This record gives sequence, C-alpha cells and structure tokens, in this order.
Amino acid sequence: MSKPTKIVLDESRIPRNWYNVLADLPSPPPPPLHPGTLQPVGPDDLAPLFPMPLIEQEVSTERFIPIPEEVLDVYRLWRPTPLIRARRLERALGTPARIYYKYEGTSPAGSHKPNTAVPQAFYNAQQGIRRLTTETGAGQWGSALSFACAQYGLDCEVWMVRASYDQKPYRKLLMQVWGATVHASPSPVTEAGRKVLADDPDSPGSLGIAISEAVEVAAQHEDTRYALGSVLNHVLLHQTVIGEEALEQLAAVGETPDLIVGCTGGGSNFGGLAFPFLREKLVGRMNPEIRAVEPAACPSFTKGVYAYDYGDTAGLTPLMKMHTLGHDFVPDPIHAGGLRYHGMSPLLSHMYELGLFTAVARTQTECFEAGVRFARAEGIVPAPEPTHALAETIAEALRCKETGEEKVIVTALCGHGHFDLAAYDRYLSGAMEDFELPQERIEAALAHLPKV
Ligand SMILES: *Cc1c(COP(=O)(O)O)cnc(C)c1O
Repeated sequence: MSKPTKIVLDESRIPRNWYNVLADLPSPPPPPLHPGTLQPVGPDDLAPLFPMPLIEQEVSTERFIPIPEEVLDVYRLWRPTPLIRARRLERALGTPARIYYKYEGTSPAGSHKPNTAVPQAFYNAQQGIRRLTTETGAGQWGSALSFACAQYGLDCEVWMVRASYDQKPYRKLLMQVWGATVHASPSPVTEAGRKVLADDPDSPGSLGIAISEAVEVAAQHEDTRYALGSVLNHVLLHQTVIGEEALEQLAAVGETPDLIVGCTGGGSNFGGLAFPFLREKLVGRMNPEIRAVEPAACPSFTKGVYAYDYGDTAGLTPLMKMHTLGHDFVPDPIHAGGLRYHGMSPLLSHMYELGLFTAVARTQTECFEAGVRFARAEGIVPAPEPTHALAETIAEALRCKETGEEKVIVTALCGHGHFDLAAYDRYLSGAMEDFELPQERIEAALAHLPKV
C-alpha cells in the first residue's frame, strides 16, 4: 500500500500540552543577569515587561504545560498543520532519501509565529493588560502579534526594522488590517530610536534597535507589556506544538527521522520542531541528527562566541548567555529578515554547547536557489528564512543520491513567501548578492561585549 503524501491530523489531535525541554536537560542554562547589578534576574525584574504566567513558564522545569482552552480555540483556526512528503522534490533530485516538511504557512499570518503570539496575547489579556509592544524584522512576528491581539481585544504597537519597512510594505499593511500601529525603526518616538538617528539618520535599523524601542515604551507604561517572538524559553515552549504534531504524523506512516533540519534566527521554529524529537532521542526511542541552519551573513552559532550579551542594542534587556555576534552588530541587509538577529536563544545556545545538535551556515543565493527548486517541484513558495533549511535538506538529499542512503529527512517549512516576492525578483533577475562576514567585522562587534 502506498503511503499518503499529505499527513493530516484530525482537529481533535491538536496537542493539549506544550513540551518543556528544560525538564530533560542534564544541566540548566546559565541564568539571565540584571544589566545594572549583574545578579540573576528574578520575577520582579521581568514583571514590567511580561505577565506572570509567561515569567513562570520562562523558568518552569515541568515537563508538560497545559495549553489553555482559550488558546486551543484559536489554534483550531489552522492547527494541526499538515506534514507533507516532498515526493516531487525527491523525484526531481533523484534521491533515495524520503523528505518530509512540516508546513506552518497555513496560519493566518503565514508562519509559525502565531503559535506563540496567541498564548502571549491571551495571558496578557487575562492579566488585564491593554496594549502590547514589539519589534519585527521581516514583519512576520509583527503580523502574528497583530492578529493575536485582535483575537483578545488588545492594542498592538510594532517597531518594524527600517530595511524591511521599506522592502515589505504589504506586511505593514497586514498589521494595520489587524488593527496595529506600525513605526519604522529607528523611530523618533523613543529615546533609543532618537539616539541611533542622531548618529546615522539613514540607519537601516536592526532587530536589536527595534527591541530597545519596544521595551522602552512597555517599561514606561503600567497598562503595556512587551512581547518577544523568538529567543526566550516560553516562546520555544509554545512552538513545540509543531514537533508534537510532526512526531504523531510520522508515526502514523511508520517513519522514524534520521535528520531534522530547521533554520535559526532566534531559534523558535527550529526548537519547536526539534525538542519533542530530542525528548524521544534522549530516552532512546529514535536517534535523529538535529541540525540548525543559519545565514552566512549572520552566523551566531558557527562564528559567534558563547558569552553574556544584551538582547538589544541599547543594553536595556537582561544579559543573556548565548551565541552572539555582539549586541551592536548590524548584519548586511539579507532578505531573510527573520534571521538577522545578533544573538540566539540562550536555551538553544546551552544545548549547542552540550552537543545536542549541530549547526551550519549558508549564503542567500544558494538558499534562494533551493527555494525556487522547491517551489517548482512542490508548489509552495517558501519564505526566505526556511530556504536555509531547504538548501541543507537538498544538499543532504543529493549526498544520499551519491551514497544510496534512504535517509528520512524532516524539515521545518515555517512560512510561505507570498510577501517576499520582491526578494525572489532580485534572485531571478540575478541582482542578489551574497554577504560573507569578514572576521574583522565579527571581532569589532565582539569587542563591545559587556564585561561579566
Ligand atoms: C521569524 C521567522 C523566523 C526566525 O525565527 P525563529 O525564532 O528562528 O524561528 C524564521 N522563519 C520565519 C518564516 C519567521 O517568520
């Protein structure tokens, strides 16, 4: 009997719990430190920025955390998402590997981001908060949070990295349709933004700068909190619905993965897919290799250092021990805006040091080449970010062609690229450049790491 191409789960199979990988690690990650005192931050330090249920999730060591009914109700709009066997891509490559992709582009915002935006908006609304502030790179997170805020009646204010604001007007409009207010960052409405503009009026912005702006406004208003779309433990926790579903979907067709691949900006779609598989690996039920793929222009795992650094540019956030290129590093304007972050999830950074997964870097033209190849075979036009995972997947499938290995590869197709067609235009017209980061620029950025 031939196996199905598209593995869909019934609505009743939406996971009821998020999986907390902290429960299964041999040691906990180093704590975040207060930027002033350099002491570990406590719940009170975070309370001006986040509601208590999320702070509790940030430090929880419970293995499973129940998903509230009110969140499941919204998840039902698009979850469970399909796991699709890339038969046509396999055929086009002539590979004996079996490739599966978990497709998160069916969400209202077109990416995995609503998986965490929805619970974040829910917990804030439940605590009586009226407004959320945030930053956005490519506009994926801003649109996800705008959608989620609309579900629970919250106001949403978004600082969008200037380079994306100019390149991607449609994501800005999407946020506005869902009712959000959008500023180009650096903006003149915050102290942090005004400071950057004074030095460089044409600054293309960066996620680090936009975070400073959103954090500043949240910290100054009692009824306002901040929401982060990646990096933090609770964000990766919420994203584990991806991996829980994929585990069940693969089991339904009798497959065990040999390789799990995901792109990493702050690490949430990768962690969300990989953690449930890692849990199974740690108890010996399977043995997949887990591999993160990052852009060569912003290579935090492969070229950064593991050190305490700020999450933002102005140094307002707690110090987090993570793989970083330095908090004032401004990456070249690659089209995968969601991967242009100087740091990395501290949880994933710790796990990388423990040797629980590997990482590689790829340049943007090889990624777009993979994206176009994928689109021509499978139909879906991927967002620029997951083309990194696809480039690695295709390279691995071609290695299998050489060796004859029938590897089972599972890749995170974390969003569609319908709002990124201008980037595809650059690629198709031959105007796309590659940026390899020179070692001098990395060293210059690392020279400003805080002394801890
Ligand atoms: C935001 C985003 C990313 C990068 O964030 P992670 O936390 O690393 O997942 C990757 N892909 C898409 C489609 C995104 O929207």
